[in-house]
Amino acid sequence: MVKKTVNLAIVSNNTFEASKAASPNPYDISSALQTTLDFSELIAIFSGKIKAMIPHSAFAYTHPGFGLEVKSGIAGKYACSYTLKIGQQPLGKLKLMRSHRFSDIEIKLLETLLGCLIYPLKNAMLFHQALKMAYIDPLTQTHNRTSFNDMISREMKLAMRNAKNLAIIFLDIDHFKAINDNYGHHCGDLMLASVAAWIKNSLRSSDIVFRYGGEEFVILLSNTDLAGAELLAEKIRAAIERHILAYGMNAIKVTASLGVSALLGNDTLASFIKRADDALYKAKNNGRNRVISAR
Ligand code: GH3
Ligand code: MG
Ligand code: MG
Repeated sequence: MVKKTVNLAIVSNNTFEASKAASPNPYDISSALQTTLDFSELIAIFSGKIKAMIPHSAFAYTHPGFGLEVKSGIAGKYACSYTLKIGQQPLGKLKLMRSHRFSDIEIKLLETLLGCLIYPLKNAMLFHQALKMAYIDPLTQTHNRTSFNDMISREMKLAMRNAKNLAIIFLDIDHFKAINDNYGHHCGDLMLASVAAWIKNSLRSSDIVFRYGGEEFVILLSNTDLAGAELLAEKIRAAIERHILAYGMNAIKVTASLGVSALLGNDTLASFIKRADDALYKAKNNGRNRVISAR
């Protein structure tokens, strides 16, 4: 394993043998990379543009900061791997793979061409950071209300057009005010973040959690019917009831009430949400710490 540092990218490679390489056209690559701010597309374009000069059968790109893992092609025995960064800013890790070794000439060429990739990658990262700030609630790391409004309309249209199921769960923490009153606002904040994490741990990766208001969350479940959503709501309810928040010397427990609704053919956004909200209201009135479905 050779470790070296080039101008913009920190490079760690496997071993290579010399072979001939075509001459690069960085202008062509750079202009193609300016057409998108999507990480996966950027890497796919880069891979496609350099393929004639540096043949490879597969690429993999990971960016843990954004939970990204992009893979394409058939991995081979040989790989060259690049940890990309600008200054202290990590830009992910790119790996090219194939069945025979990469030559020194190919590696040199690749290092030059990576210069075309990293600024578009940085732009993509800044764009995604800005999006995240606009759509993610910083306390609970769930999507915010703005994001909910955008996403539910889109999901409803998709579900109606493709005759797919769609369900929502409204969740409100029970007697949350008492947590603030008894242990302070800081403890309340910690509890909110913890409940959000317990909800997320109960879900599939395709399900999305939104912070709808103060201590109220909504979970959007695509391809899920009422019975499926009810099961999931019960799983979430049980998870919240089971967990304990350790705060100083205190072991604090909470419960939550949940209302479930599934999309009907003649629903409007308002009627779809209202059924879940009404069900939540019933769950509160029927004693809290329970799931009620809108039938
Ligand atoms: P219920 O079971 O009827 O839902 O009772 P509740 O106490 O949960 O409901 P209520 O609406 O009376 O109180 C909600 C509390 O949530 C009051 C508000 O101060 C608190 N809250 C809202 N947002 C935040 C927040 O970001 N941090 C903290 N610590 N508290 C919050
Ligand atoms: Mg509440
Ligand atoms: Mg509330």
